Amino acid sequence: MQNFDVVVVGTGPAGGQCARILAKKGWKVLLVEQHETFLANNFSSAASPIEILSDYDIPSHCVGSYWNNLAILSTNVSRHWESSESLGVVFDFAKLREYLAAQVKDNGSEVWMGCRYFKHYQQGDRTTVFLQLKKQNETISVSTKILVDATGFARAVMYPSKKERPSFLKGTGIEYLLRVDGETYQKYSQTLVFFLGYYWSPQGYSWIFPMDDNQLKVGSAIYNEPHKILKKIAPLKDYTKQIIEIYIQPKNYEVLDIHGSIIEYSKELDDRYYQNNLIAIGDTVSTVNSLGGEGIRHGFRGAEIACQSINAYLKNEIDSFASYQKQMKEVFERDWKQCDRIRKKVYLEYSDRKIDLGVAYLKYLSINDLIDILFYYKFDKFSKGLLKYIYLKLELFLKKISQIVTHKKK
Ligand SMILES: Cc1cc2nc3c(=O)[nH]c(=O)nc-3n(C[C@H](O)[C@H](O)[C@H](O)COP(=O)(O)OP(=O)(O)OC[C@H]3O[C@@H](n4cnc5c(N)ncnc54)[C@H](O)[C@@H]3O)c2cc1C
Repeated sequence: MQNFDVVVVGTGPAGGQCARILAKKGWKVLLVEQHETFLANNFSSAASPIEILSDYDIPSHCVGSYWNNLAILSTNVSRHWESSESLGVVFDFAKLREYLAAQVKDNGSEVWMGCRYFKHYQQGDRTTVFLQLKKQNETISVSTKILVDATGFARAVMYPSKKERPSFLKGTGIEYLLRVDGETYQKYSQTLVFFLGYYWSPQGYSWIFPMDDNQLKVGSAIYNEPHKILKKIAPLKDYTKQIIEIYIQPKNYEVLDIHGSIIEYSKELDDRYYQNNLIAIGDTVSTVNSLGGEGIRHGFRGAEIACQSINAYLKNEIDSFASYQKQMKEVFERDWKQCDRIRKKVYLEYSDRKIDLGVAYLKYLSINDLIDILFYYKFDKFSKGLLKYIYLKLELFLKKISQIVTHKKK
């Protein structure tokens, strides 16, 4: 039986980043993934703010496109912001994960694709992990000091039995990858477009993100909870198709791929973070943000925090991952709970008019303020837009009154 310091299950952003950091530190790591290739589950829209490249040392060849502009549309309102510099990226999700895995190998560790985790048992300070090699149709076992669950929403290692799982908020996303004609592509090539409201995207949000080579990612996501006002909505893919056919109206297009996935998110962040020498990272501990669905950057951040503890554990400096859980809560809990409260209101409670008004207020914000709200959850910036909106409305109202009064005097 082969021995490892760490076995990481799942080559998503969190698992890849965790395995990469530990391999770089010289630990003997095995990274395993159930799919044969990174294209097999290329599900993520993968937009991030630009800092992700420098913060996590990601090279430009993983980038599908850069974006400078933002647009937000609701049923009756549309707002658009431009910048002369790149504010973010849309990753090629397959290339990003492939790169992380390649780094694991470059640093002397191993990556096994087409290899499915199915059970483990802990014995003393070591764990035996059972893996199914799909192609060979055979089962093998390996031994490790630490086992990392990075299986995303599946939580396959931490919760082998569904009965033990806490209740989760469920969301579903579907995305069409299109190749469009050059003229259509130019309109969207540097812009992230988001759709809200009952017409475009009831009970969630939709988007158009650019990729290279005349490609656009067009998708929609909903939260599978009852809406306070809406009783019935159309199938999710109908909203994506509506955006393609009614909003984008490409002259020509080809559907290259249709993919989707779900998120399962613990609203109270009461996932299990560790159990003896088993530790969970990424979406397994709900690092995806429920308001915007951004999870790559946060999965990286969580993986880095986990690696500090894993490193200390392997060096016998600590004997429990309690400090990891504590640190994760300190970093995520406050913002994540606030985002989730807002998510519930915007996607599941507000009237369409209220959503229109919210988007209208955004007019008075700069693109940097908007980035701070969308990606850094600084919601106090929103009231800046609201105050400006009220002030301008009041000014207009007073102007009208004064015109009426002057007219009457004449
Ligand atoms: C439609 C959609 C759009 C999104 N758009 C964005 C976006 O624009 N920006 C952003 O930042 N985030 C986005 N996200 C969220 C983001 O993709 C996730 O938060 C992120 O991928 C989570 O990373 P992870 O490593 O925790 O898990 P995952 O990426 O889910 O990786 C888990 C891996 O574990 C593997 N696995 C599962 N079970 C087993 C097993 N038993 N054995 C072996 N392997 C196993 C899976 O195959 C998978 O490769 C989106 C999500 C969806 C669904």
